[in-house]
Amino acid sequence: MMKKRNWLFPLAALLIYVTLMAALLLKRETLPSDQQLPVALGLFAFSLTLTEVFIALRLKKIERKVGLPRMYSIHGFMAIILMLAVIAHVGNELTIPNNFTVKSAAGPTGFMAMALLMSVTLTGMLFLSNMFTRKSRTLKHLKNTVFKREPGLWIHRLSVLAVLAIYIHMMTIEFVRSNFVLSLLAGLYVVLTVGGYICSKVTKMFLPRYVLRHYIQYTPGVVELELEPQNNKLMVYQPGQYVFIRFIESDLPKESHPFSISSAPVTGSTSLKVIIKNSGDYTSLINRLKIGNVALLEGPYGSFMDGITAVATTPLVMLAGGIGITPILSILRSQIEKHTVRRIVLIWGLAFQSDQMLFDELSEIKHKNPEFSYYITFSKEHVDSYDFGQITQSYLQRIGINELYSTADFFICGPAPMMDSMEGILRNNHVVPDKIHIEKFSF
Ligand SMILES: Cc1cc2nc3c(=O)[nH]c(=O)nc-3n(C[C@H](O)[C@H](O)[C@H](O)COP(=O)(O)OP(=O)(O)OC[C@H]3O[C@@H](n4cnc5c(N)ncnc54)[C@H](O)[C@@H]3O)c2cc1C
Repeated sequence: MMKKRNWLFPLAALLIYVTLMAALLLKRETLPSDQQLPVALGLFAFSLTLTEVFIALRLKKIERKVGLPRMYSIHGFMAIILMLAVIAHVGNELTIPNNFTVKSAAGPTGFMAMALLMSVTLTGMLFLSNMFTRKSRTLKHLKNTVFKREPGLWIHRLSVLAVLAIYIHMMTIEFVRSNFVLSLLAGLYVVLTVGGYICSKVTKMFLPRYVLRHYIQYTPGVVELELEPQNNKLMVYQPGQYVFIRFIESDLPKESHPFSISSAPVTGSTSLKVIIKNSGDYTSLINRLKIGNVALLEGPYGSFMDGITAVATTPLVMLAGGIGITPILSILRSQIEKHTVRRIVLIWGLAFQSDQMLFDELSEIKHKNPEFSYYITFSKEHVDSYDFGQITQSYLQRIGINELYSTADFFICGPAPMMDSMEGILRNNHVVPDKIHIEKFSF
């Protein structure tokens, strides 16, 4: 069943739609009978467009409740409905014989709005999200070679122009323009949405600047960056949260990418750390960074660990796959820093011996904290003193995790198949859904 908070945005769109329709019906006598259906569809598409732009503002308060990956999937789902509504609206208009609305200025302005909307939604669906590239090799190839993320983002940003274009289109239609309440309400929604968009862009220009102070190469493909705020005001973050980082003074492209904070929010600390794996176009260039390079940090985002679980004394079981260790490390470091007495078990799946990192730190934590234990298993190579194979139900049983299914909180982060498999095992073993915490590394 869809969680309650997933309905937040569809409900917002519905509310906008209902109010616009009510305003339209206040002057129903001016509405031509053949325009009832296309206008209802058009207003529906307009309501969805406004809500889509609103979701894209990534408001922190809402993000903490819904989660960015889920917000983006709702955004994608609503984009499909939006496209269908636009097609139905235009299709309906075009099938009306002697349609004066299409022949008036509403025709070209409508066409412009539709072209903008289609470019924005198609770019988002095909090349910014994984919605279709996950399933189609051709699209994936096109995404990696032709339709790069940054130009795609620029096209996607035209969504705010699409909102304005729809409003202009509406105002070229006589029976809409003459409906004072409808024009006012639609104008108000446009001002709020475009205003919100401009505010979010202006806020982004004043994001805190962080300087790269340390750079550690953990493995050939993984580095740790230590970043210090230029104004000495370290952002307040919770263990397991993430930030969007955009290097503005460096040899890297000026793209913004999300990375989990791997350090713990310790009193008196003046910097934060992230650990980055080379996994694509941008992250493969990370080694171009130099000490002193400057980045803008946006965040913190995410709610992997909530405040209640953070201070509880119930056991914690952490299931990490590869680079998925980063938010888990932050939680672990923070718990240890707080001298927790709760039992903590970390199970970390790696592929090759060359993926080894942070082992000394884990061993030191274990040495100092008898309640902490960890298991590392390599799936593609036998490594002396460590387990071999993937994390499976029988593996978890062998190391005694089955004793914790009814009491512990479980934290999972890693590649999607690994997370699905872990969640499946936990659900099969009747772990309460509220005790399964998942952090996705993709939107
Ligand atoms: C909440 C969260 C926390 C993360 N934490 C870490 C971490 O601690 N360490 C780490 O190594 N990786 C982390 N990642 C993954 C990291 O953000 C991606 O690996 C990186 O952005 C991919 O960029 P690329 O160009 O190198 O790879 P590409 O192969 O070009 O992109 C890989 C995929 O990442 C997505 N992507 C690309 N650019 C962006 C972007 N700017 N914003 C969002 N998605 C993008 C695309 O959908 C693409 O399918 C995290 C991701 C998320 C969502």
